[in-house]
Amino acid sequence: MSDVFGLTSQIKIMSKKDTKQNETVSWELSPAPESKGHISLKPKYDLFINGKWVKPSGGKYFDSINPATEEKLAEIAYASEADVDKAVKAAREAYTNVWSKLSGRERGKYIFRIARLIQERAREFAVIETLDGGKAIRESRDVDVPLAANHFFYYAGWADKLEYAFPNRKVESLGVAGQIIPWNFPLLMAAWKIAPALACGNTVVLKPAETTSLTALKLAEIIEESGLPAGVVNIVTGYGDTGAAIVNHPDVNKVAFTGSTNVGKIIQRAVAGTNKKLTLELGGKSANIIFEDAPIDQAVEGIVNGIFFNQGHVCCAGSRLFVQEGVADEVIQKLKDRMDHLYIGDPMDKNTDIGAINSKEQFDTIRKYIKIGKAEGNEIYESNCPVPSKGYFCRPTLILDVAQSSTLVQEEIFGPVLTVQTFRTVDEVIQKANNTPYGLAAGVWTDKGSKIFNLTTKLRAGVVWANTYNRFDPVSPFGGYKESGFGREGGKHGLEAYLKI
Ligand code: NAP
Ligand code: MG
Repeated sequence: MSDVFGLTSQIKIMSKKDTKQNETVSWELSPAPESKGHISLKPKYDLFINGKWVKPSGGKYFDSINPATEEKLAEIAYASEADVDKAVKAAREAYTNVWSKLSGRERGKYIFRIARLIQERAREFAVIETLDGGKAIRESRDVDVPLAANHFFYYAGWADKLEYAFPNRKVESLGVAGQIIPWNFPLLMAAWKIAPALACGNTVVLKPAETTSLTALKLAEIIEESGLPAGVVNIVTGYGDTGAAIVNHPDVNKVAFTGSTNVGKIIQRAVAGTNKKLTLELGGKSANIIFEDAPIDQAVEGIVNGIFFNQGHVCCAGSRLFVQEGVADEVIQKLKDRMDHLYIGDPMDKNTDIGAINSKEQFDTIRKYIKIGKAEGNEIYESNCPVPSKGYFCRPTLILDVAQSSTLVQEEIFGPVLTVQTFRTVDEVIQKANNTPYGLAAGVWTDKGSKIFNLTTKLRAGVVWANTYNRFDPVSPFGGYKESGFGREGGKHGLEAYLKI
């Protein structure tokens, strides 16, 4: 299992009270930047259609920037409806003439090859993910890239065993899968989508998010290198309208979307009345629940892990904290201390805990929510760790003693902002935790197994972690309830989304 934010934990002491002289002394860590010398980035990326790099029909490109420095990294092609049509046609031909005719064993070989090539180029992928998306290199290196490779390995293993996955049922591939992914785990989300689709015998047209297209385009290079037949995987870059063109294309058989609930609703409406199969992995507002009998220090680490790493850009982030009254003061004090000692800054530095917010737009959204919190009269605690003056950086923030009805408790912020509520009884916390339109994940911290089992059956969340948070494994399914979407990715369940059974 990968601990998403790899944190058990690198506690770094930046300052400490010298008891004799009663003054604060600070130690700085020396910079430890990962090198960029080993990566190759082209100045301009075209579309990857039918195994070739093709110019966008409209001739338009947009910039991908490094959110930590605001520097331009590369130009990315903007795919029009006509380009999407070309990609879907290529995927259809590849499906009909090649991919659907190959045995599972042969398909598996290609998928294994992709997995191995990701491993071989892991360092390059980690650096590019960090440059393009702003997340700390420790996360891209220890979480995103290894998990992406693992997904390809895992689904490669299923390719020739589909009839064992669903005994006594006939399974068939669907055809062309249109896949749209967000910016928070760009390579990993591409792996979650492409690996099971290929294993089940489908071909793919994938659109990455506009701010983080680079690792999907680097994945296209690996796909080229793997010798995968032309047209089996096509990568089209662009804005929301490029995504909409995929969703609305009449020759797409399956739509897989990960992103916001608002766009998910638009897609569900667009797909209604067609025979396209749909899975939606949407937003979240997940509860992290700390009982009095919990191991408090571990729980504090789990809270930090749950919301502050990857700048809170995690769909299943533990963004609502519920602490039982008896330990509330202790937990909050320890949490504040820990927050003050987090390193926020250069995402390329191996000591950095929290990197840059992915885009100016997201940065403004987070600031807007903190302002709403202030206007609502909530007590707000912003960590006092130093932040760089350039780039989009946001301090970890607590919204304390907040009402269940507050906008900040109800809406997904998608940033390092944690609402804190207290509770007395088990029933009360279950009711509060479930009082949300979302249902993606939850965390429970207690030393009583019976309490854990009670809560896992009553919390309306797709994933419930016990005494840990944000752990992922390709073997276990992930997905939501309610407005967090439907369908599962990962594990055997993840195959169902790409098969007629
Ligand atoms: P988003 O705005 O919904 O965008 C997601 C993807 O959809 C992007 O590639 C986007 O393109 C594209 N898109 C936008 N409008 C579209 C339309 N009308 N039709 C088709 N595609 C369209 O989400 P985001 O801001 O990138 O990502 C953050 C959200 O993703 C959060 O709500 C988070 O909770 C959710 N998320 C969920 C999961 C999960 O597994 N449940 C995992 C990760 C993230 P552009 O980038 O060009 O706008
Ligand atoms: Mg970028």
